[in-house]
Amino acid sequence: MLLRTSTALLRTLREDPADAEVPSHRLLVRAGYIRRAAPGGYTWLPLGKLVLDRVTEIVRREMTAIGDQEVHFPALLPAEPYRTSGRWAEYGDDIFTLADRKGAEHLLAPTHEEMATLLVKDLFSSYRDFPVTLFQIQTKFRDEARPRAGLLRGREFLMKDAYSFDLDEAGLQASYDRHRAAYQRVFDRLRLDYTTVRAMSGAMGGSASEEFLAATPVGEDTFVGCTTCDYAANTEAVTTRAPAATDPDARPFSEVHDTPETPTIASLVELANTRRLAGRDDWAATDTLKNVVLTVRRPGAETAELLVVGLPGDREVDLKRIGATLHPAAVAVFDDWDAHPELVRGYLGPQLLGKLGVRYLVDPRVVPGTAWLTGANEPGRHATNVVCGRDFTPDGTIEAAEVRPGDPCPACADGKLTMRRGIEVGHIFQLGRRFTDAFALDVLGAQGKPVRPTMGCYGIGVSRAVAAIAEQHHDERGLVWPAAVAPCDVHLIAAGKGPQLDAALDLGGRLADAGLRVLVDDRVNVSAGVKFTDAELIGIPRAVVVGRRLADGYVELRDRATDERVELPLDGLTERLL
Ligand code: ATP
Ligand code: MG
Ligand code: MG
Ligand code: MG
Repeated sequence: MLLRTSTALLRTLREDPADAEVPSHRLLVRAGYIRRAAPGGYTWLPLGKLVLDRVTEIVRREMTAIGDQEVHFPALLPAEPYRTSGRWAEYGDDIFTLADRKGAEHLLAPTHEEMATLLVKDLFSSYRDFPVTLFQIQTKFRDEARPRAGLLRGREFLMKDAYSFDLDEAGLQASYDRHRAAYQRVFDRLRLDYTTVRAMSGAMGGSASEEFLAATPVGEDTFVGCTTCDYAANTEAVTTRAPAATDPDARPFSEVHDTPETPTIASLVELANTRRLAGRDDWAATDTLKNVVLTVRRPGAETAELLVVGLPGDREVDLKRIGATLHPAAVAVFDDWDAHPELVRGYLGPQLLGKLGVRYLVDPRVVPGTAWLTGANEPGRHATNVVCGRDFTPDGTIEAAEVRPGDPCPACADGKLTMRRGIEVGHIFQLGRRFTDAFALDVLGAQGKPVRPTMGCYGIGVSRAVAAIAEQHHDERGLVWPAAVAPCDVHLIAAGKGPQLDAALDLGGRLADAGLRVLVDDRVNVSAGVKFTDAELIGIPRAVVVGRRLADGYVELRDRATDERVELPLDGLTERLL
């Protein structure tokens, strides 16, 4: 491949774009990789598209290598399946919805669990067909509250999403482990400095979940690692040891813990009605769909509290009704969630409280199997970055006890936690049967009885990964691409016109014939100095300068990362660069 600067759709900028807050955004725009086209939407210019394609191909190969099969779902989908799964309401404002000419509701898919489940249900009917994993690499749409930082948080972005279907837990675990290992190979090949951390499950529900966080100060996630053991967790998912309860009244709603053996909606409403929440008045109980929602405002208190009691498997919550009564603080207590602690933390935190605009915290310390989501609308606090270790005191105020570096490790005796920021480039989940339940996906089991498959889902932010690489691979002069994802292998620079230009074009042709990707700077109206500056900004790993020494049959090879420069004879250069 030979790309000529003189004709390429490539314009470098001297100035930083006004809206660019982070290095990757600044540099990708300045070096001519991307252009902003819409809020949270970017056009990939030729150089950018080359990088994106290389990253995509690495991801595709590693997925195919573990036996995943590539499919491609539509991005424009009818609302129905997302209503069936409950995610139409859960995603709420985060999805783009539209109506077709007949008025039928549609959405632009944020992920495709529903479609994958329906496809497998459509085609597979026997245990012999399993396990199976599908993946696609596709544009996703999310109406992010705050698109930012260029490619890092777009409203339209490229994701690799995979969905595994297994017949039992052991199978799911194996699929999960296989993807975990493949993800590590992907991020190694992308030369990302990343950490695999315990995570919350977000809108997916499910139990086990890990994120791959590329460390950088501009990351939106904060994670802790242990100095001695291999414990690492997103601060959203940190679990600390339960503190001794000094005052039993300091645990509000504890009365709800002694729910009947098999709680039903009616019994929980009854419980709340009869106990009046230990004398707190001004509360309301709402039986919405399958959840019981209780809101509480203490007499004279400035803050209102919210108690949500959910039954396992319940996911629908009438957000509007809660939203109407909920004010600055919120508590949600879930009983009977031993099997699904992540569901509580992952689903209710971001999805419910997040939607209500409540800053929330996860405090899993209370009692095993019970997670408390506590929150307060404190201006300036980013909920997802201040998580863990909050207590409600009897007077209803919330005390913060954030995780700090230096805190003892929750997993081992002697370690201490250190804290860093990172970008979520990948996320893997053990979903379980949430979607196979929703769509009643049953297949004939080996014993002749129906079996309901269990799912995993696995995402990589492909376009975000491009930006993450740029965050980790740049210096004050520009981008410094790792060879595996660079748009070109060689940046040929004709330092002068006439013979130097001819020789550069000739060499470029030969290198391209030999299979190298070449960008040749053949512009005649700019100085050599400008070309050098642009080459450093663009960040191709190796530059070859065809300059003064051409007369002696020599060119200069420059290494972008090390700045090393050597003079080499033109003879044999192709072999040397291969
Ligand atoms: P985030 O916490 O950053 O909002 P997420 O947890 O909502 O991400 P997932 O649902 O786990 O995202 O999607 C899988 C992957 O898609 C993420 O790990 C991330 O790399 C990527 N991704 C998610 N949202 C965006 C976005 N708005 N722009 C670019 N990439 C994204
Ligand atoms: Mg998100
Ligand atoms: Mg996330
Ligand atoms: Mg995620």
